[in-house]
Amino acid sequence: DLVKDEDLEILDELGAGNGGTVTKVWNKKRNCVMARKLILVDAKPSVRKQILRELQIMNDCNSPYIVGYYGCFPVDVHVGIVIELMDAGSLNDIYRQNGPIPIEVVGKVAEAVLHGLMYLYDVHRIIHRDIKPSNILANTNGEIKICDFGVSGELINSIANTFVGTSTYMSPERIQGAPYTIKSDVWSLGISLIELALGRFPFTDSQDQEDQDQDSETEDEFDEDATLPLNTQRPKISINNNKEKRKSKGVSLAGGGHTMSILDLLQHIVNEPAPKLFSRKKQFPNEAVIFVENCLFKDPGQRKSPQDLLASDWISKSTITQEDLKVWAQSTISKD
Ligand code: ATP
Ligand code: MG
Repeated sequence: DLVKDEDLEILDELGAGNGGTVTKVWNKKRNCVMARKLILVDAKPSVRKQILRELQIMNDCNSPYIVGYYGCFPVDVHVGIVIELMDAGSLNDIYRQNGPIPIEVVGKVAEAVLHGLMYLYDVHRIIHRDIKPSNILANTNGEIKICDFGVSGELINSIANTFVGTSTYMSPERIQGAPYTIKSDVWSLGISLIELALGRFPFTDSQDQEDQDQDSETEDEFDEDATLPLNTQRPKISINNNKEKRKSKGVSLAGGGHTMSILDLLQHIVNEPAPKLFSRKKQFPNEAVIFVENCLFKDPGQRKSPQDLLASDWISKSTITQEDLKVWAQSTISKD
């Protein structure tokens, strides 16, 4: 590997998720900044070694749509993974701080994710398994890339043993126990695109959604910290109750008041019609609406493949340039 832990000087914390914490680091040997993710791995040494071996596949993942990989190593009870720093952060961070993402930019996000998924699958036979706004990153060059894909089966197992990480970006067939396919990633992409365009997670029950769309003149509509009903927050359960990291991520299991429990939500995804790219306040272009519809067929057989989606009008007729994306990405970080 190119990077060792002792080469790294810790700068700021970039974020924390269910499985780990991500820190901005300075690489003394190479004189550049990078991102280091520490994943808590509750496994015996032989399994750890196996994980580190499996992660080596990332050395061969080279694509403009995949976050670059620099190395991995054990760090006491963690596995450290050093990756490319994406200085505009995740699309999740971006929309939570800046509000809904302009639909033309969302189209470029779709394009980048699809290219990334096709690269992983066509070249390495890897299915991502965890497409969501926090795993789509941007930098101030206007590049958009995906990260956190399932390269290491052992790592997936070890994390699953430690955390309850049921994701609500999961497709109906996955919720019902079907194996992952690239079509499940397409579903997760569709849900993510609606979330980015609306500035909120798309699943709510219909009455609440109408209420919300009516009183959404407030500026901080997308700011989940205090203003949104619980059921519009990013729904995820964690058995780890670390308040600092998790204050904006949990959803109550109790199901009282307006809260939609995770089980209700999963049932909803399986039983109800798929969400659409629709808002009372905004008219989205028809090509975008159709694109999202094609991602969200509940039957994976009907759902379009990444290749077909890339050929669709919304993507092929986009007039946004790399320079536009750069200006947009820079505008998202120049605040606060
Ligand atoms: P989960 O653990 O539930 O999948 P997550 O994706 O947010 O959630 P992490 O993958 O640990 O959790 O990432 C935490 C945060 O760190 C991300 O949301 C993002 O803001 C930030 N981050 C991750 N990787 C990078 C990177 N390469 N460059 C810049 N920021 C990053
Ligand atoms: Mg992540």
